[in-house]
Amino acid sequence: MSTNVDSLPTITVKPGEADRILAGHPWIYQGSILRLSRPTPDGDVVQVKDHRQRFLGVGLFNSRSKIHVRVLSEARVDIDRAFFHQRISAALAVRRRYLPGATSFRVVNSESDLLSGLIVDKYEDVLVLQTSSLGMDQRKGMIVSVLEELLQPRAVIERNETAARKFEGLEHCQGTLAGTPPDRVEVQLNGLKFVLPVSGGHKTGMYLDQQSNYEAVARWAKDAAVLDCFSFLGGFSLHAARAGARTVVGVDQSVEACEAARANATLNGLGDRVEFTAANAFDWLKEQTLAPPNEKLFPKFDLIILDPPSFTRSRATVTDALRGYKEIHLRALRLLKPGGVLATFCCSHHVDARLFEEVILSAAFDCHRVLRRVATFSQGPDHPVLPSVPETEYLKGFAYELAR
Ligand code: SAH
Repeated sequence: MSTNVDSLPTITVKPGEADRILAGHPWIYQGSILRLSRPTPDGDVVQVKDHRQRFLGVGLFNSRSKIHVRVLSEARVDIDRAFFHQRISAALAVRRRYLPGATSFRVVNSESDLLSGLIVDKYEDVLVLQTSSLGMDQRKGMIVSVLEELLQPRAVIERNETAARKFEGLEHCQGTLAGTPPDRVEVQLNGLKFVLPVSGGHKTGMYLDQQSNYEAVARWAKDAAVLDCFSFLGGFSLHAARAGARTVVGVDQSVEACEAARANATLNGLGDRVEFTAANAFDWLKEQTLAPPNEKLFPKFDLIILDPPSFTRSRATVTDALRGYKEIHLRALRLLKPGGVLATFCCSHHVDARLFEEVILSAAFDCHRVLRRVATFSQGPDHPVLPSVPETEYLKGFAYELAR
């Protein structure tokens, strides 16, 4: 508890705005604000009250962002090192409970962990930090010191190149915040090794949110001919190969990703069964589904995985995105053998599970297939969903068998 919260500048929200904040949604938009008690520097801590002067919480202020305040606590606490220590420890406890064996995972997932604007990924002993709000960015030093205490990393680096930063008036930046990062890290996921370049030109991370789903999907891989579209570093491909797939074909448009995926296959002794093709998945699928006139197309895969990037970052482009999702499902379903399984994912927040399944069913209808749903998937437990903060939910997936 703090004694000086009462002296903080006060943001008063309009009537009707308090419930959402009380329910745990941390964003307060400019339009929800009635007044600010005194001029406040961007990034500073403010207290939030409703129009009847009831205390709602404390948060970080930024007049440059549409999200004027990000609430961090509903209590009268200081946003100091002890606060970050408590929040990050709580986040770690969730990971240890739900991903007990994991050594690489997302340590902090912003709103999901009541730390709006902060993401921390752990790749073995290297931590990667992203701060997407000004207030968090200003507190990087404190956050790094807590992470060092809790996790003893070899290095902490920042990879702050997200688009969101410009809405907060922040520049892109990248660099080392503590320790000495190695050139590459050998990341272990479910006992498989994946090489992650840390420094150098190829600055991408990994998709840790699929960690549990890799294993879940691999259960259909035994003796299967597998197609992994949008294969990236080979996450689904290698898990399928280890689970006993006969052959695995990974397709990704990035030449670098395919090279890295091949190296990962070799590293795990699975190179003989897995191949990666650098191609646009739309074109590749189209080619595979072209049959000469009057000839039947013979499906060739027992397990098909579709894990594309988000086809839409905004509500405005959902229609185009749906066209894309439908197209790949139409083609994939035509390549799936009777008795086969299609495991398909959508990581776009603006396409929810119901809409996603509608598109899949519409593709199935067009190619005269009837689907039996055999599994549903979500993002891993290191990307927790808070239902009162709908933006925390983005990844959904389904597996279907062909019923007909
Ligand atoms: N399944 C992966 C994650 C996929 S991320 C995993 O679990 O790690 C999306 C991938 O799709 C990226 O590697 C990107 O290079 C690739 N990609 C994007 N558009 C593509 C396209 N049109 N065709 C093929 N690959 C594409």
